[in-house]
Formats: sequence, structure tokens, C-alpha cells
Amino acid sequence: MTGTPSPDATPEAAAPAARVALVTGAARGIGAAIAQRLAADGHAVGVLDITADACGDTVAAITAAGGRAVALGADVADAAAVEAALSRLVDELGAPTILVNNAGIIRDNLLFKMTEDDWDAVLSVHLRGAFLVTRAVQAHMVAAGWGRIVNLSSTSALGNRGQANYAAAKAGMQGLTKTLALELGRYGVTANAIAPGFIQTDMTRQTAARIGVPFDEFVAAATREIPVGRAGTPDDIAAAAAFFCAPEAGFVSGQVLYVAGGPRA
Ligand code: NAP
Repeated sequence: MTGTPSPDATPEAAAPAARVALVTGAARGIGAAIAQRLAADGHAVGVLDITADACGDTVAAITAAGGRAVALGADVADAAAVEAALSRLVDELGAPTILVNNAGIIRDNLLFKMTEDDWDAVLSVHLRGAFLVTRAVQAHMVAAGWGRIVNLSSTSALGNRGQANYAAAKAGMQGLTKTLALELGRYGVTANAIAPGFIQTDMTRQTAARIGVPFDEFVAAATREIPVGRAGTPDDIAAAAAFFCAPEAGFVSGQVLYVAGGPRA
């Protein structure tokens, strides 16, 4: 034994295991996998997407597995809609102290063809959306003296041809994350980012369709560049999110975890 206090004595470890979580963009893809993983870990989950109806499958999967979830409809870039959805979550499941900012869109094009709408739409959903949802939810975390924020960045934050808007947004998510960690740490709130590489979802299907390549060929080409020799799955990202949300991750904050099957050259 040394004189170092046991980690079990920290406020983080003493916190109850079951929390209320809010996951945005959780109707499908990575968000749906994160919502289901957090529910499996014992949390009640607000499953938010543009419409509550779109969240039906995710909520059904959670409840079928014995978990608790509510479907919430809101455009994350609309402050009033976010507040209304949050108030429904508080009424139905309780105040959230776990937040995963996952909602996202792509509007890819080379810079000289990118429209102002393409730029504004992507920056709005990712950055304005994460800002609005986090600003609303942090009040509950600060009141509880405990919180976990996970933001979805991307390997595209390092630059990606055809994605000036998306790369800027995903780099912005990293700056937002580090600032949240600085501002909210004293209230027991951690903030971390996950930067996925190539994950098989509707988003990557959309990219394959845009460039006119069959999805299986697109996946095979991406896989050739991935050191672990496979494409990522939504569950790979959910596992990383579950770690950041765990009580014992209370000393991990302001980090960006690349979950991409190996380093990017
Ligand atoms: P996805 O399958 O397209 O799912 C994104 C979800 O977000 C959809 O259900 C979408 O709803 C929802 N959404 C979009 N705009 C919204 C808004 N304004 N308000 C609320 N919900 C909204 O995408 P994914 O691949 O799972 O990606 C999830 C996150 O991971 C995104 O932030 C993405 O940028 C990031 N990411 C993905 C990859 C990848 O390879 N797939 C890699 C790196 C990072 P609609 O269906 O109505 O649009």
C-alpha cells in the first residue's frame, strides 16, 4: 500500500452507475449503437433525432432488451426544439448527466463546387447543434456535480478532399471538446471526443452513392488502407463512448480518441 488514495474514493467512482443519457442522431448508425450500448450499461436513454418517429426502432431495440428509452424529435440546430425535447426527457426519464453529440450530416464537394448552403448546413448541424444541446444539458450536469460529454469528431478533422465543410466542423468539435473540459471540469463533468475512421453506416453508403461506386467495392477500397484490415462498425464507436461515460473515466477529459483501426499516415 502507498499513501495514494484509492481511486474508489473519488467522487466519480462513488457516483451511482445508472444515469440518464441523451444521444443525438440516434435513429440509426453510430448514434443508435451508442444509445443501445448505454442502455445495456444500465442507463435510461433519450433517443433524439429529427423526428421522434424516426427513433422508433432504436427505442424498440432498447426496450426489447429490458432497457428504458424515450424517443425525442428535434433538429439539434434549433434552440427552441432542443429545449422542448430536453424538457420532455427530464419529465419522462429524469435529468440527463450523460450527453453524446452524434447528430451529423455530410454535403461533400470540392471547394470550388461547394455552395454556401452546403457549408452552412454542415457547420450548423455539427457545431451549432453540439453547442445548443451541450449548453442546455450542462445545467443538469453542473446541478448534479457529475457529467459525461462525448462529441463525435472524425479522422476528416485532419483534412479530407471534398470535405472542407465537414473537416472544419469536425476539427471544431475537437476545440469545443477541449474548451468544455476546461470550463466544466470543476463541476465533475468530463468532455472527450471520438474521431472515427471509416465506419459502415448510411453516411458512408451516401458517399459511395455520390461517387458512383458500389458500397461493397467502396468498403473493400477503404479496408485496404486500414491497418487492422477491416472497416469499422457502429459498435466499435459505441465501445469507446461507453468507456468515456463510465464512472471510472472521471480523470480522462479533453481527449480525442481516434477509433480508426490504426494511425492515419
Ligand atoms: P448517419 O447514419 O447518417 O446517422 C446520423 C443521424 O443523425 C441520422 O439519423 C440523422 O437523421 C441525424 N441527424 C442529422 N441531422 C440532424 C439534426 N439536425 N438534428 C437531429 N438529428 C440529425 O451517420 P453516422 O455514420 O451514424 O454518423 C454519426 C456521427 O459520426 C456523425 O457525427 C458523423 O459525422 C460521425 N462520423 C461518422 C463516420 C462514418 O464513417 N460513418 C466517420 C467519422 C465520424 P436523418 O436520417 O433524418 O438525416
